[in-house]
Amino acid sequence: MAKKWDVFPSTTLRVGPDFRLDAFDAAATPGFSGDEKDASKIMAKHANALSDLQERLFADGRAGGTTSVLLVLQGMDTSGKGGIVRHVVGMVDPQGVQHRAFGKPTKEELAHHYLWRIRNALPVAGKIGVFDRSHYEDVLIVRVHNLVPGSPWAERYAEINAFEAEVAAAGTRIIKCAMLISPDEQKRRLGERLERPDKYWKFNPGDIDERAYWNEYQAVYQDMFDATSTDVAPWYAVPADNKWFARLVVGSLLFETLTKLNLGWPAADFDVEEQKRRLEDLRL
Ligand code: AMP
Ligand code: MG
Repeated sequence: MAKKWDVFPSTTLRVGPDFRLDAFDAAATPGFSGDEKDASKIMAKHANALSDLQERLFADGRAGGTTSVLLVLQGMDTSGKGGIVRHVVGMVDPQGVQHRAFGKPTKEELAHHYLWRIRNALPVAGKIGVFDRSHYEDVLIVRVHNLVPGSPWAERYAEINAFEAEVAAAGTRIIKCAMLISPDEQKRRLGERLERPDKYWKFNPGDIDERAYWNEYQAVYQDMFDATSTDVAPWYAVPADNKWFARLVVGSLLFETLTKLNLGWPAADFDVEEQKRRLEDLRL
């Protein structure tokens, strides 16, 4: 028998008030005593289930339901956000997914409030929205590099919490995953991008500049966790040094969230018997 979760990641990895990033082990596999092979068996099961669950969500949206799901992925360069999108989100019908990556804001985006581009990208009813980076950049890179005047951080945390509460109240289940890697693992992954011609395209010399701010990032991530892990939009601290484990975690969180929606299939808004008769009676 393949090993299963001993304790679900929704319990073990949820960021609570005592969470300490400096004591976090990015190579651990909390709640899971299996190995990569066990994980891939679970993922195969999740793939089938997720596909069915996503279709129920989509059908519910078509039938006038207001429910959607939003998966927020944050993490340092090379933390594996793209791999989550390919390997986890890729398990469901692309028609049901609304994916958006947030890079350096455009001129137009900069002319608006920082939540403007986020609001515009929120998943519509029936969809699974995926944010590769998010509004959290506005309290992370923006804070590390002082890209706005003053120190609006406390104000921004409150604003973000209110925004997420509003989004949740409108029917969106929010799952926030912080993909946490160790500095050694980041060095290894950046090095790999420089060793392999098939990975050069992923390398950005600026990633080394950002790496120099590792400690500053640790501090602003800690503050972000302390201020923005709420009941309606909790953070999950995902140990991401092992890609297979990080993918298992996010796949399982998505599976659990969709299962808890308890969605049936929409009832027919027509008379089934009558339509059967019509189909039978129609002679071509
Ligand atoms: P990548 O995800 O590798 O394509 O890189 C996108 C870059 O855009 C990262 O360095 C982000 O930190 C940066 N970025 C994302 N959002 C913002 C923002 N609001 N302000 C400044 N930089 C940002
Ligand atoms: Mg990058």
